[in-house]
Amino acid sequence: MKALVFHKINDVSVDNVDDPKIEQPRDAIIRVTSTAICGSDLHILDGFVPQMRDMVLGHEFMGIVEEVGSGVTNLKKGDRVVVPFPVSCGTCFFCNNKWPSQCENSNPNGGPDGGLMTEKGGAAFGYTDLYGSYNGGQAEYVRVPYADFGPRIVPDGLTDEQVLFLSDIFPTGWAAADWGRIKGGETVAIFGAGPVGIMAAKSAWLMGAGRVINIDLQQYRLDKAKQSAKSETILWENEQQVVEIIRSMTEGRGADVCIDAVGMEADRSLLEKAKAVVNFEKGTPKVLEACLRAVRRGGIVSVVGVYGSPFDNFPIHRWFDKGVTLMGAQAPVHIYIDHLMKLVQEGKVVLDDIITHRLPLSEAAHAYDIFKNKEDNCVKVVLKP
Ligand code: NAD
Ligand code: ZN
Ligand code: ZN
Repeated sequence: MKALVFHKINDVSVDNVDDPKIEQPRDAIIRVTSTAICGSDLHILDGFVPQMRDMVLGHEFMGIVEEVGSGVTNLKKGDRVVVPFPVSCGTCFFCNNKWPSQCENSNPNGGPDGGLMTEKGGAAFGYTDLYGSYNGGQAEYVRVPYADFGPRIVPDGLTDEQVLFLSDIFPTGWAAADWGRIKGGETVAIFGAGPVGIMAAKSAWLMGAGRVINIDLQQYRLDKAKQSAKSETILWENEQQVVEIIRSMTEGRGADVCIDAVGMEADRSLLEKAKAVVNFEKGTPKVLEACLRAVRRGGIVSVVGVYGSPFDNFPIHRWFDKGVTLMGAQAPVHIYIDHLMKLVQEGKVVLDDIITHRLPLSEAAHAYDIFKNKEDNCVKVVLKP
């Protein structure tokens, strides 16, 4: 089959690879009909989440069930499904305690420690050897383990593009808002107006936020956030300027909730890059630091942007002095997806209005390029195998 293969930093291509096979009774093989590229894929492409051997990428996908193992009774050939990005067993301590993304069984390299190069949490599709070594769904076919727990059958009448983002970015944006404990009327400042930042904005409104603000360096992405999520926008020039604007919008206090939808690959100056090299740091916590400044005392900072390594001089004093609640993780997609599917079905939210590019899988390498470099006003790419 054809699949998008990661070879080494900044080197991906669509290659011929072996078709996946049923390996375990609870496996299913899915014929992928739509798949997307995520900001998380860029961390692998850029070497921030390391991967030493070839691997098929892609954790946002949906398709048609082609074959099921003997242990899968809830799905049959021909069913149309969307698949949560975490690989989760459905039976362990964490899967039973609303933390499928911390699954104890799916990641052979997982463990309690959450180390730098060891013992990460639950596995994810197409997300390196650290996260379980599973090939991903930017491919014609994909093996889905624990297929009786992850995939959700798509109700009739919904197109691929209407539901594809239930695999990751909508539940992730929803998790960000949920961790922000939005009950009604809050001011929510969301750093990042990429796909995840925009989904967080849609989620914040659905939970009853009073004001929703997206912050980004890319004006075209802010325009998309305004159009698709009806958020107010701030163009990032520097941390001080953004913090001052947010305080001026909130009687000097700061936002009730700040969401970090950027992560460690935030835009950096040459000086910031040099400092990171000297400190042996990967990327920067600058957006998380900005969140800690822009949030009000007693507020919540909710982090869905990915951080993969430690940082010296992290302003822990600010977290303590302000009484801030800090929460972050890989999103537990399974616990939200059914409710969110209903919201889509009832027309309470539209997800496909962030798609800017639809391309055949064969053009995936080019798609990575324009998404990463923010060319051609790219916000979200959907690939068709
Ligand atoms: P993306 O790369 O398309 O978007 C990131 C946005 O941040 C870009 O628009 C960029 O211009 C902006 N940005 C960079 N520096 C900034 C700054 N200083 N201030 C404000 N904005 C800045 O990625 P995405 O697909 O939207 O994903 C965003 C993050 O969420 C990534 O780190 C991704 O890995 C992560 N993610 C996490 C989960 C999870 O489960 N926690 C799931 C999906 C994605
Ligand atoms: Zn993703
Ligand atoms: Zn589990």
